[in-house]
Amino acid sequence: MGLPKNIDLTNRVREFFQNEDKKMLIHGEWVNGNAIEKIAVINPATEEVLGTVPLATPSDVDAAVQSAKQAFYNPAWRKMLPSDREKRLYRLAELIETHADSLAQIITLENGKMFAQARSSDVLGAAETFRYYAGWCSKIEGETLDVSMKQVAGKQNFAFTRREPIGVVAAIVPWNFPISIAAWKLAPALAAGCTVVLKPSEETPLSSLYLGALILEAGFPKGVVNILTGDGVTTGASLVAHPDISKISFTGSTQTGKQIGTAAMRNLTEISLELGGKSPVIVFEDADLNDAAKAITLGIFRNQGQICVAGSRVYVQKKVFDKVMADVALLAGKMRISHGFDPTAELGPLVSARHFQKVSGYVQNGMDEGATLLAGGHRAKEVGFYMQPTIFTATDNQKTIIQEEIFGPVLVGVPFDELQDAIALANDTSFGLASSVWTKNISKAHSMIDQLESGWVFVNAPPRSDPNFPLGGYKQSGFGGKELGKMGLYQYMKTKAVNIVY
Ligand code: NAD
Repeated sequence: MGLPKNIDLTNRVREFFQNEDKKMLIHGEWVNGNAIEKIAVINPATEEVLGTVPLATPSDVDAAVQSAKQAFYNPAWRKMLPSDREKRLYRLAELIETHADSLAQIITLENGKMFAQARSSDVLGAAETFRYYAGWCSKIEGETLDVSMKQVAGKQNFAFTRREPIGVVAAIVPWNFPISIAAWKLAPALAAGCTVVLKPSEETPLSSLYLGALILEAGFPKGVVNILTGDGVTTGASLVAHPDISKISFTGSTQTGKQIGTAAMRNLTEISLELGGKSPVIVFEDADLNDAAKAITLGIFRNQGQICVAGSRVYVQKKVFDKVMADVALLAGKMRISHGFDPTAELGPLVSARHFQKVSGYVQNGMDEGATLLAGGHRAKEVGFYMQPTIFTATDNQKTIIQEEIFGPVLVGVPFDELQDAIALANDTSFGLASSVWTKNISKAHSMIDQLESGWVFVNAPPRSDPNFPLGGYKQSGFGGKELGKMGLYQYMKTKAVNIVY
């Protein structure tokens, strides 16, 4: 099978790939379950098969959920001393750092992204998230309440709230940041005292399986984390429909999010959905235009544009529109396209053949709908799913490439006249995940912050996540709560209100 030659892989990674048929983690054991079908995991840089994973069946889903349920109650993860949960989360953060090279290499192999980015954003970002939430284990608290309505004549009362872990969590993750997004769900859920069934994407399950081994090594009791490999239609769908799941935490496309939301309502399962985006970048003529051009380029082409908050629409004030777009096109044209282990590379392959077809379809659609192609637009290499960094300009905001999420290295630039025009254009999609605004004028910046319909607004910087910074979209970019930060922790807890009359 296809481990690339001439790449200096760690011994741990070579050992990991010695057995190409991977197993799932259920109740602390590596098992094939009842899976008959296997899913091949492809290296998008070489188009070769890296290995296979089982396609978990509904009975495997049930086994994983029952394991997580048992671990929630007995021996009770939720009743473990907060400091003992904290120690394990810290230990896991340390192990992830120790294994950073190996984990990042597996991510680059299965996802195609730059090794340095896999290491810094995905792997070390995950370690930071586990460390951040480790600290929260011992800081969970309720409130005491003064109630005004008379309770029982002649008696007094003492009212308070307590926070309790919600139960078994189904954590469903996409392929673009396989480990950091898994950590955004695992870390707060485990800190809250929940147990988890993690389902990574079928495109990138290998890094999660490697993480599973670290979770066992960190001393989490069996069943606290189960990892199911599989697709959406069979494995994901039976997981979200399982009646013993208390909370679904999903990150992925808006289309899948709507299906999962419908399924969740059948059991009235708690749900949070982190969904797609079509994030605008707004550049005023007074901005630092050099910084803005660099940030626009980075914002759309980093990770091959496969970032939910990628700035895929750029609105530039008319007077400086041509200059900014020409600068971005120049920077994009200089980007070196190569595989993720090439240290000089800036743009790697898209994750899969299917995704390459989807992105290419949008590029063709842009041309068919009459947008002006400023740069790129073509496949960049014969082998591997490489797409050139592509830039369009247009004036009609209703074009498909402006309204729909492409999730690839495709940017569309549109000119605007005044601030209110920029607001109208930026808010004119069904998405509302992130925005960035470039101006040196603080009044303009505040006016934009006030009026932009998006969960994140960054001023003079491209959007970037942080464990203490809540992430969650407005409109069809999100539903049911924020991920990360304190809000991300409380998603995994329910509140009990208690009144003692004495
Ligand atoms: P996707 O929706 O195709 O799949 C996401 C996950 O859902 C995968 O694990 C998949 O197997 C599973 N799935 C698919 N159908 C399912 C079903 N019916 N029931 C249960 N599970 C199912 O998304 P993707 O292509 O993997 O990821 C790209 C999308 O993720 C983009 O839209 C991107 O914007 C979004 N995303 C959002 C955020 C955010 O924080 N808002 C972050 C990263 C990615």
